[in-house]
Amino acid sequence: MHHPPPVIRIARADQALFISDMHLDDHDPALCAHVLQALESRLDDGRHPVQALFLLGDLFEYWVGDDVASDCATRLTELLQAFAASGGRNFIMHGNRDFLMDVPVPGHTGLMPFSHHCASTLLADPSVIEVAGERVLLSHGDLLCTDDKPYQAWRTQCRQPAWQQALLGKPAAERVAMAQMLRQQSHQQQAMMGLLTDVNQDAVNRMMDEAGCDRMIHGHTHRPALHGWTHDGRQRQRWVLSDWAAGEAPRGAVMTLAEGFAQPETTAPAA
Ligand code: MN
Repeated sequence: MHHPPPVIRIARADQALFISDMHLDDHDPALCAHVLQALESRLDDGRHPVQALFLLGDLFEYWVGDDVASDCATRLTELLQAFAASGGRNFIMHGNRDFLMDVPVPGHTGLMPFSHHCASTLLADPSVIEVAGERVLLSHGDLLCTDDKPYQAWRTQCRQPAWQQALLGKPAAERVAMAQMLRQQSHQQQAMMGLLTDVNQDAVNRMMDEAGCDRMIHGHTHRPALHGWTHDGRQRQRWVLSDWAAGEAPRGAVMTLAEGFAQPETTAPAA
């Protein structure tokens, strides 16, 4: 089987930093401060010479076009530019909330893609990187939730260029109103179902087989953990990144690959 080449090679496991599901929103300035402070302290930490930062989707609560400005987006941009100026590289992957990032907006020719503002490289989902000589698979995670058929149908629809161009052709104020409405519906659905659907273990193994990786990192499910299991005689690990919140029960973690794969393991059921 032909496996995709790695997007980047990083020498050591403490040089690659991972974060996802920050859900930044101008309506929650405390969350923005919490996330940026956590990122800043890790990127400035002289003990860990971080060379690459991977932002694996749902950076923002919603994203309705690169032409719509937001304070928290501007602050994240400034942080990533400063990191780039100090020699670091950063990579952004789309999540299910910010999949319109970098998509051309009709009537705005010459608009700079958001990732360029961040001195970032946009990653396909999934992508493979190499860290300390080992292939590591990166994904946002929503592709793995194959048991949620209505969601996968929606995902297919909203990733189609014609659908995206029709939406981005609407006035900015209308797009913001739509996103806020969808967001409320999504919160209602999550409250009804208890939680987001978890990944399907067969889908996990299939994606890892196709990528030629025995280690994987993703977010999306808001179930932070390190899972270990055996598949076809191979030891596999799946590190699920934490989502973020501020307020009374703050949560979220930005960790290096070395730290992520050193957490206590939870065994996943064999597929
Ligand atoms: Mn997500």
